[in-house]
Amino acid sequence: MSRRDSRYSLPVKIVFAAVASLVLVGSTTPCLAQAAKSTTPAPAAGAPQDFRSQHFLLHTDLSAAESKALLEKLEYMLGIIATYWQKPPKGIIECYVAKDLNNWPSGSIPDDYGRQKIARGEGVTMSLVLGSEGKSTVYATSEGGVAQHEAVHAYCAQNFGTTGPTWYSEGMAEMGQYWKKGELAVQVHEYVVKHIRSSEPKSLNAIVNSVETTGDSWENYAWRWALCHLLATNPNYAPHFRPLGLGILNKQPVSFEQTYGAMADQISFEYLFFLTHLCNGYRTDLCAWDWKRKFTAMAAGSSRTVPVQAARGYQPTGLLVKAGQEYEVACTGTWKLDKASTKPLTAAGDDAGEGKLVGVIFQDFQLSDEFDVGASGTLKIPSDGQLHVRCKSDWASIGDNTGAVTLKLTAPK
Ligand SMILES: [Zn+2]
Repeated sequence: MSRRDSRYSLPVKIVFAAVASLVLVGSTTPCLAQAAKSTTPAPAAGAPQDFRSQHFLLHTDLSAAESKALLEKLEYMLGIIATYWQKPPKGIIECYVAKDLNNWPSGSIPDDYGRQKIARGEGVTMSLVLGSEGKSTVYATSEGGVAQHEAVHAYCAQNFGTTGPTWYSEGMAEMGQYWKKGELAVQVHEYVVKHIRSSEPKSLNAIVNSVETTGDSWENYAWRWALCHLLATNPNYAPHFRPLGLGILNKQPVSFEQTYGAMADQISFEYLFFLTHLCNGYRTDLCAWDWKRKFTAMAAGSSRTVPVQAARGYQPTGLLVKAGQEYEVACTGTWKLDKASTKPLTAAGDDAGEGKLVGVIFQDFQLSDEFDVGASGTLKIPSDGQLHVRCKSDWASIGDNTGAVTLKLTAPK
């Protein structure tokens, strides 16, 4: 049956999904087998061959070793996404993955658009969808993580008959190529970090609601990845994100607005914070904002103690402060900036100021500049709002920090 057979034009739709960015991810998994041995003579070097794994049929001009490595990555990723979306993979995902199109005679790639995408160093997934089932074929360059990205679309189309709206479909496919079991830190290509850090932040509304098409630009893919990564890994939003995604894929009446509307200000704040501090190694889970903490002013002359973890972003003190107030600071305890470091630091930090206790004021979803708190002395409050503190440390390696200090603040009489 042809994909474009008009007899199926009503219940059938073709889902096009494309990628324009290239990223490499490494991983391993078992369950591999080359396609059944043929009795025909060995193919010429570089000629396309077929390789099989449990869930993939790979047509490729990659070497046998490269093909095996790619199938391992695809199976590994498929295992993760099938667990995430709670549906074992249905059927075989057929993939045309080309290293050099000169190795592919005319007609050997059965779709001209697929061949064009490969020629551009990109990929596309073409799915024939009937109800909630589909048959997908991936066309991808062998460069970077394009095949993994496309395989996410293929899994969604074959198992749910849809890949969801562009922001979700492409954001999750980008995540798919980076996913590593148990890895919570950001691990993306450096050009993604560079683009986001050097651009005017793209609003949530612009990502979720603008009319955007798949395959538009790698820059748009970067923003969609950032949003999906934050929502999937920040504990404030992750519990709602998977049900939202499953609702989308199961074509239930769910929406981003319905799910997160009541938390719009909080998400916007944390999203902007994430974009501002984005780096490889960043941990959204450790830097999540504590929205439940209550803040109150301290009575004159009273004291309050607050534990501060080294391996966390800003942590609430529960203290509501006013500009110009002065508090006495007295910290006890030590922390380390990495597990291997032998020298524990107090809240005064090291000579370079690393490991120092620092603070910000949060007010109306805006943050003040960061200021020093230190281990002892007088803290002069720069502006009205809620006082948050952290161990000054590279955002890329907060997860390596250990230890905690106790901050004691005494209000003036
Ligand atoms: Zn895509």
